[in-house]
Amino acid sequence: MNARSAPVGIFGGTFDPVHFGHLRSAYELLHALRLRQVRFMPVGNPPHRAAPIADADLRVRMLKAAIGHQPGFVLDDREVRRSGLSYSVDSLESLREELDAVPICLLLGMDSFLGLPKWYRWRDILKLAHVVVAHRPGWKAPSRGALGTLVRDRGTELVDDLHKTTAGAIYIHEVTQLEISSSSIRTLVSKGIDPRYLLPERVRELLDQAKCYSIGMDDTATRNQTEGGSDPS
Ligand code: ATP
Repeated sequence: MNARSAPVGIFGGTFDPVHFGHLRSAYELLHALRLRQVRFMPVGNPPHRAAPIADADLRVRMLKAAIGHQPGFVLDDREVRRSGLSYSVDSLESLREELDAVPICLLLGMDSFLGLPKWYRWRDILKLAHVVVAHRPGWKAPSRGALGTLVRDRGTELVDDLHKTTAGAIYIHEVTQLEISSSSIRTLVSKGIDPRYLLPERVRELLDQAKCYSIGMDDTATRNQTEGGSDPS
């Protein structure tokens, strides 16, 4: 189908919690792909992994705090409002109805893309959206198996192709990779180590208030930092 306006990017994830790795990738893709917007879509009940630790309400509040000031960043909470397992294909079907002939780009990290063939009705996803893979510098596209065939048949190196049609292309784009993950943040917090500078300060404050992932962050370290202190002992 021919497209009618600049594509909308969909960035799905558990966001448990959202961090600068997510935000930087989304920001680079917003500009490089000339997207109309990036919609952050927190998963409700993930089919392929354990349930998130932070509840949906807190994950949504953290996302709102993280993206609120960035033009082009939008929250889409349809998966946390829907009951049952959160399948991407269902979300994309409802988005396709709403957006009509606007191209949709499903934004995936390399790790997620490699697991794509295990997703429910994964081939239908390509009928509804383009798939954009954000990868580490130096990484090569898969050349074998179902994904190798897909990249060969559907791959494009032209951003314009994502604007001309509504779905069906695979585009691989190099983004700055920050070695930050939600799980490493959860581990730090559970050990009482402050995750400051790995995620936006407003998100860190929400986590601290909710005492999520921990019995609380290290009070001494937090107090010292708040007072501008840097006592190494
Ligand atoms: P966890 O550690 O709990 O698995 P995560 O940090 O990988 O979480 P998710 O919310 O599961 O975060 O990921 C959502 C999307 O963000 C995925 O497509 C993933 O590939 C991507 N992503 C996660 N971390 C980064 C990062 N540091 N840089 C770029 N993309 C990332």
